[in-house]
Amino acid sequence: MTKPPMLTAQQALDHLLSNAQVVSEHELLPMQSALGRILAEDVKSLVDVPPLDNTAMDGYAVSTADIQTPGSILKIAQRIPAGSIGITLEPGTAARIFTGAPVPQGADAVVMQEDCAIPEGSTDHVQVNVVPTSMQWIRRKGEDLQAGKTALIAGTFLRPQELGVAASAGLTHLSVKRRVKVAAFFTGDELSLPGEPLKPGGIYNSNRDTILACIKALGCDATDLGIVPDNLNATREALRKASKDHDLIITSGGVSVGEEDHIKPAVTAEGRLDLWQIAIKPGKPLAFGAVRKSSATADGEAWFIGLPGNPVSSFVTFLLFVRPFILKLQGREEGRVQTYPMRADFDWLKADRRNEFLRVKINAQGGLDLFPNQSSGVLTSASWGDGLVDCPPGQAIKAGDLVKYIPFNALLN
Ligand code: AMP
Ligand code: MG
Repeated sequence: MTKPPMLTAQQALDHLLSNAQVVSEHELLPMQSALGRILAEDVKSLVDVPPLDNTAMDGYAVSTADIQTPGSILKIAQRIPAGSIGITLEPGTAARIFTGAPVPQGADAVVMQEDCAIPEGSTDHVQVNVVPTSMQWIRRKGEDLQAGKTALIAGTFLRPQELGVAASAGLTHLSVKRRVKVAAFFTGDELSLPGEPLKPGGIYNSNRDTILACIKALGCDATDLGIVPDNLNATREALRKASKDHDLIITSGGVSVGEEDHIKPAVTAEGRLDLWQIAIKPGKPLAFGAVRKSSATADGEAWFIGLPGNPVSSFVTFLLFVRPFILKLQGREEGRVQTYPMRADFDWLKADRRNEFLRVKINAQGGLDLFPNQSSGVLTSASWGDGLVDCPPGQAIKAGDLVKYIPFNALLN
């Protein structure tokens, strides 16, 4: 049997991304329903935010020309609460003003009330105890958003703060991409669902919960097609079912080239497939291809990505390869996985020929600790960890070295 080609992580990713095409269908959703979706069109603000110059503090709106020395006294000529508009400030006067209220014409600063006092026996004068600088505590009209200008760009993943920005721009609904539809199944005769008795020599299907949750965390629809036994016909059948109504099929297990690995022949029979050896650890085998839509009405193909079966391998290869592929289908703005320089507080001396992704945790000293068991079967390493260290091929790590850190948090949305 010929050995699949060995690719670097970068080459594999380039190949995946050059194939992915953005899903084009949009839908208009009320703001709260758009959480976790991808913006399909730029949002332009309907208004200036703030609408007028306004005060950031409770205090007094003044003209700095009137206050040359601390202790200057001004007549309080008007009162402007939030939601009302004052009149032009006359020289020598101040306006009592409250946070969010528009600053009146003629005023060029706000003095916070803590820096003012009402002189003994007065009801309508204020003593200003500090000399203000021009524009202090004034929020400028349009400093946040400008009417007619872009507030959010197409391709943005909508978090709570983006919904707030769209609302402050005056929108009630957002045009978002339809959800990418992903089907997943899990190969292996040894697998049982939690809740069922384990077979002799069996294990529970943990990939189901990790992978379906990863798919959902990216804002996709996830369809679970269950456990598929290690035989060609069952695998082909599952592929035909999965290709219906889905953009992408993800599987775990069976991607090596052993006698019990049926992904390659099954996908080849139902479509087309490249099987890769990627020079990464954990991970190595990964399959990429497409499955013909089987129904008479739907034409085209569903993309196919086959992950290795080992629980850490399938999780890490999902994050490194499937996630960017899905982001591209979604038309998202974010590009490649970002790494951050962090200090290793551990030694990793057995430099491997493969690019390793080590499970690590941030410690109280601002460095990274290493999970002691880096086996690709030990999933507790990933739940203990905060993220991965991307350790290039052939590189050893000594405590104190700066390493490339990838937080899990950044990959699960
Ligand atoms: P495979 O890639 O099918 O050769 O599987 C590699 C290893 O991962 C084997 O030890 C399998 O038992 C294990 N494995 C495969 N699929 C799963 C799964 N869904 N959940 C947990 N372990 C799995
Ligand atoms: Mg297997």
